Amino acid sequence: MSEQQIVPPRCAGCGIPLHSVDQNQPGFVPEASLEKEETICQRCFRIKHYNEASSVTVDQDEFLRLLGGIASTNSLVVHIVDLFDFQGSLISGLQRFVGNNPILLVVNKIDLLPRITNWNRLRNWVQKQAREEGLKTVDVVLCSARRNIGFDRVIEAVNTYRQNKDVYVVGATNVGKSTLINRLISDYSDLKRELTVSRYPGTTLDAVHIPLDDGKSIIDTPGIVYSWRMSEIVPRKDLAALLPDKPLKPLTYQLNEKQTLFFGGLARFDFVEGQRQSFTAYLSSGLPVHRTKLERADELYAEHRGVMLSPPSLEDLESMPPWTRHRLRVPPNSKQDVFISGIGWIQTNGTTGSTLDVHVPRGVKVMLRESIL
Ligand code: GDP
Repeated sequence: MSEQQIVPPRCAGCGIPLHSVDQNQPGFVPEASLEKEETICQRCFRIKHYNEASSVTVDQDEFLRLLGGIASTNSLVVHIVDLFDFQGSLISGLQRFVGNNPILLVVNKIDLLPRITNWNRLRNWVQKQAREEGLKTVDVVLCSARRNIGFDRVIEAVNTYRQNKDVYVVGATNVGKSTLINRLISDYSDLKRELTVSRYPGTTLDAVHIPLDDGKSIIDTPGIVYSWRMSEIVPRKDLAALLPDKPLKPLTYQLNEKQTLFFGGLARFDFVEGQRQSFTAYLSSGLPVHRTKLERADELYAEHRGVMLSPPSLEDLESMPPWTRHRLRVPPNSKQDVFISGIGWIQTNGTTGSTLDVHVPRGVKVMLRESIL
């Protein structure tokens, strides 16, 4: 008998076909539960028993189909981005896909920035960057879902812009979408929560609806996987080293031209040309920084990759894409960030301009942007 004729059991909660292959995919259950009757998938189980939303992920094509379906609804779209990986996690085409529905941009993980940050300036920066990426938003809210900072404003904005509509929550993976939805659920904790299920419009993917008091729902969408984010490329065990937990500690380096910084074994920053100047790195604290001469850099990497220059560790090197080089020219008198998706950013302070090379695994997004701070 061919395998296609075997019909997989379905989740008694949301109806999705069950499997025990990959816990990040919708419909996952531990293998032992697959044989039981009336099994619900891990996602439904967590929501039902712990009021806890958990992440499932889909690739870009599936996600775009799903977004296209939102266009035919009348809803508020809450787009969550990760402040630490802003350009990596922003869904720049969002506008085109969700039709006329308003988009509320929620910028999460602000706890990572120094306390002395000028939040108004940051909000303006976010608005400008979003505009440059073609994203028109009804409002921008800054928060930390994990540390419960600014959450009142998130609730207030959702209530203001929702106006008796459903709320679709969209975001890339690891931006804190589940953490934020869990907070939303607990904020509406007086509700008798009978989760209902229906398909995302126009897709085969099932959505769990978290009811609101007016009969409308919050609908969690799967996290989108963007291949340009370092967090999608590193081995899973190194992800914790990349996702910062505490406020970023700025590290300032006075560099002469022809000097190089290694960020673990994940990125290399060459100051190719320019007058002596300082560079301030805002990186995840799990990444050790090593400094060397540019002429020594290749040799150092060949000798120490996977050990001193890690993550990734030696046994994972094979699974990483080869490095490619990005050449960046910083104009004089401009304060810019060299943004490396998932690793952080390096602020340039030069008045005289510089030429920089950034080496990263192929595909990882690297760009110059107006300085965030
Ligand atoms: P999802 O994949 O978007 O659902 O993201 P999760 O909610 O699973 O969070 C991904 C990672 O980001 C986890 O390690 C969270 O602890 C962390 N995280 C979530 N919210 C925040 C926040 O406000 N600040 C910080 N520093 N980390 C956060």
